[in-house]
Amino acid sequence: MSRAFLLTIVLLYSVTLSVGCEKKAVENNRRGDKLLLISLDGFGYDYLSKADTPHFDAFVREGVISRGLIPVVPSKTFPNHYSIVTGLYPENNGLVNNTMYDPAWDKWYRISDRNAVENGEWYQGEPIWITAEQQGLTTGTMFWGGSEADIQGMHPTYWKRYDEDMSYKARIDTVVSWFTRSRNPIDFGTLYVEHVDSYGHRYGIHSDSLVAAIERSDNLLGYLQQRLSNEGLWDEMNIMIVSDHGMVEQSAGQTIILDTIINMDDLARYTLDPVTMLQPDSGKVDQVYQQLKQAEEHYRVFKKEDLPDRYHLKNHRRVMDLVLVAETGYMILTGGNKQRFIDNLPSATHGYDNSTPKMQALFAARGPAFASGDTIPSFQNIHLYELMARVMKLKPAPNDGSLDSVRVVLQ
Ligand code: AMP
Ligand code: ZN
Ligand code: ZN
Repeated sequence: MSRAFLLTIVLLYSVTLSVGCEKKAVENNRRGDKLLLISLDGFGYDYLSKADTPHFDAFVREGVISRGLIPVVPSKTFPNHYSIVTGLYPENNGLVNNTMYDPAWDKWYRISDRNAVENGEWYQGEPIWITAEQQGLTTGTMFWGGSEADIQGMHPTYWKRYDEDMSYKARIDTVVSWFTRSRNPIDFGTLYVEHVDSYGHRYGIHSDSLVAAIERSDNLLGYLQQRLSNEGLWDEMNIMIVSDHGMVEQSAGQTIILDTIINMDDLARYTLDPVTMLQPDSGKVDQVYQQLKQAEEHYRVFKKEDLPDRYHLKNHRRVMDLVLVAETGYMILTGGNKQRFIDNLPSATHGYDNSTPKMQALFAARGPAFASGDTIPSFQNIHLYELMARVMKLKPAPNDGSLDSVRVVLQ
């Protein structure tokens, strides 16, 4: 063998070796930037202390947890899920309630209305999956409010239409399969699980059923851990577990019966919730406001323009002209649905002012990007968009959050 030939072989070998190493480094780097965002609907900030949760306990020991996650107002599912992924307050992202009316379009949005939920026109701002896709990453949503709509003409690469009957294990299997695809695996995924919210509503927050639901969440975390560990991903990727809001117990003595205060015929439309929105007929705003103001007990009434700035609601046309904010635990009803409300007790709900400690939700995170062993103070969920962008090394779109508010959770 000539010396020149030998030298060529050695050179070729070392080039191949270095390209191989570089590829590996890129792959590892990408793995360390991968992020799974999990939402456990209605999982209150203090739920981990209510039940036996060995998998959560280990997750938190190895990762970081906050004392709570402050929701946006109203503390309902869709406004909060959409604020988490856009970093925008409801008045800036358009999702001002689970049920809302757009006066310019003369159209209602309801979370049970597939056409509305999948119509991108309702959704403003840029969800994190679009930020990621636009910057070359691949995303997959195993349910998330907003992810079923074409927003800015885009969907996540993989997405699923919400199906409450899909088993939680199948949801986990699906998202794990997206992360581990041999071609075009995802860099960002979501996973949504709703049973803790449902059990909280139906049986109340002091029920054994809720404890069982929390423990079932823990089992699911164990199942996810096992599935990702089998793929060598559990310690290499980042996982954020959040919830959208907490929950508060209701009682028969804590009701506000709206039609004993105002004449419902004076309203063009309304939505009944802890944050109730009322649209009086034209010319009747002042009259209805005065009636509600005189009877103001266990709630506060605001003209839209006088809503506190911190609610971040008043600058959207989908917020009606009058807004009632119930005192924590109080329910705003009409006489016609009071009996059904009482028959369904014990029960719990959410939707209150976000300064109510019981509305605070869960935030915990684990993985190479996150601090380990820390408990940090509560923070607002609108900062999570910036945080997710940082974890995935993305340039964030303009938003209402700030990385400085959450930097402490990072390594
Ligand atoms: P809430 O009334 O605010 O407690 O809303 C919780 C409910 O939102 C859950 O029980 C789900 O049925 C529903 N939900 C969650 N995600 C979706 C979705 N992508 N599409 C329609 N409904 C959803
Ligand atoms: Zn919810
Ligand atoms: Zn709920």
